[in-house]
Amino acid sequence: MIEKVPVIGAGLGGLSAALTMKSLGIETEIYEQNAHAGGKAGERIVSGFRFDTGPSLITMPFVIDRLFEQTGAHRQDYLDYVPIDPLCRYFFPGEREAFDATADPEQMTENLGRLSVQDAQRWESFLRYGRGLYERTADLFLFQPIHELATLLTLKSLLRLPSLLKIDAFRSMHQAISSYFTDHRIRQMMDRYATYVGADPRKAPATLNMISYVEYGLPAVYIKGGIARLTDALTQRCAELDIPIEYHTPVRQIFYNSHHVTGLQTGEHFTGASAVVSNADAVTTFRHLIKGKNQSLHRLERLEPSLSGLIFYWGVEGKYPELAHHNIFFARNYDQEFEHLFVTQTPAEDLTVYVAVTSKKDEEHARKGHENWFVLVNMPSLAPHQDWDTWIPAIRERVLQKLLDHGLDIRNRIVAEAVTDPRDMERLYGSNRGSIYGISSNDRNTAFRRPANRNRDVKGLYFCGGSAHPGGGVPLVILSGQITGKLVKQFRERGKI
Ligand SMILES: Cc1cc2nc3c(=O)[nH]c(=O)nc-3n(C[C@H](O)[C@H](O)[C@H](O)COP(=O)(O)OP(=O)(O)OC[C@H]3O[C@@H](n4cnc5c(N)ncnc54)[C@H](O)[C@@H]3O)c2cc1C
Repeated sequence: MIEKVPVIGAGLGGLSAALTMKSLGIETEIYEQNAHAGGKAGERIVSGFRFDTGPSLITMPFVIDRLFEQTGAHRQDYLDYVPIDPLCRYFFPGEREAFDATADPEQMTENLGRLSVQDAQRWESFLRYGRGLYERTADLFLFQPIHELATLLTLKSLLRLPSLLKIDAFRSMHQAISSYFTDHRIRQMMDRYATYVGADPRKAPATLNMISYVEYGLPAVYIKGGIARLTDALTQRCAELDIPIEYHTPVRQIFYNSHHVTGLQTGEHFTGASAVVSNADAVTTFRHLIKGKNQSLHRLERLEPSLSGLIFYWGVEGKYPELAHHNIFFARNYDQEFEHLFVTQTPAEDLTVYVAVTSKKDEEHARKGHENWFVLVNMPSLAPHQDWDTWIPAIRERVLQKLLDHGLDIRNRIVAEAVTDPRDMERLYGSNRGSIYGISSNDRNTAFRRPANRNRDVKGLYFCGGSAHPGGGVPLVILSGQITGKLVKQFRERGKI
């Protein structure tokens, strides 16, 4: 019998790893603790309103296309991308007029001109700067297993070394942004891209300013029917390729012998395997599934987790043309908000609020005459001193007040409601301290400190997903699964697993 390589978790990274392995001729199966696949990229129905539970915007959509191609299929046969314009509508404190960010550079320059004529003239050069960062780093830092010496020593990588000196890793995102723009609103809009990887723009290296380019230059899309359709399409592809997914099957332990994986346990059942791919968070994998590796666990636990989030799923009576599909209501003092998120680890008094309304594109996501509001507030990762039961109702009031400040009075119009808080993120997805994007990217060495796709302490143990290289966010976790799948193939061919 051909030995399978089991995957722990049917998040997008796990699905991508399984599909990659299968397309490379490696038999695999997936164990998922929940009743459904997708992990954070799931779906929720609340009294007739439908919501995506996690991602609402897909950057680098070509990554998904390539995954389908790799499995011998065309993405177009499974998923429709929907362009988003405006990409996001921004509301600034004390200002009645909203700002529409768009991928059309001329239109964006014109829109920025209403905030600052001088800054608007720098938009295209800022995009070129972001593009330069992306082009210098993506190949090595996103598409390859950076922790593998063999990757770093290829001729292609060595030839890239001089350009790596120009990746702006010694300034913070905010410092670089401030060198381009003087208007505090434009700075705030660009700083916000740090939160796409759950980081703090005052600390994250300026290299991450590539995210603005990825959003505007490559541009980001929505998926018809909701982002959870991506999960459906990948599970369908698994079914078509005979990759079993065992739901309601939490993996309890990974076994190893003289530092080499021997199998795993689900319930009372032991499955022998010389390699295991964990799509579960690397920290929680070491904390709960691997015994006797305290040093590795200790090392991982010292890494700062990325942001968590508090989500209100609201079914709202009425239609709100003031809102676009994606909306941000900024806090007055962004700096103070990040101080709360990463230093005191408490919610700030004034919070930035994100509202996504998929019923703008897919009317059937809300009851007739209503809208589905996915309301997300960035939150610190879990810490012992926090008091969520007291904080959540207070935050809810502050969010409603902020919306009211912008003329949106929905206090008596919420007809359906559900909440997900950081504790749920930990429970539902097994994420370390409720973090959404694995470890924070607040350090210029994060790319190297992030858990490797191939673990060095336990041979045969592989990681994919947001907690492993190259990090969190839909395109990156899909890349992570592909990188991991290819590594498994390479090491199996060499007879190492
Ligand atoms: C609120 C929110 C908003 C987001 N917005 C965006 C966005 O707009 N754009 C974007 O690109 N990204 C966004 N993201 C991030 C994106 O959703 C994640 O990076 C990505 O979905 C994580 O995929 P993953 O492969 O790491 O797996 P996860 O989603 O973390 O899934 C891991 C899976 O493993 C399973 N599992 C864990 N432990 C076990 C075990 N012991 N046994 C069996 N199964 C186990 C879990 O049940 C889960 O299904 C957002 C996330 C959230 C939560």
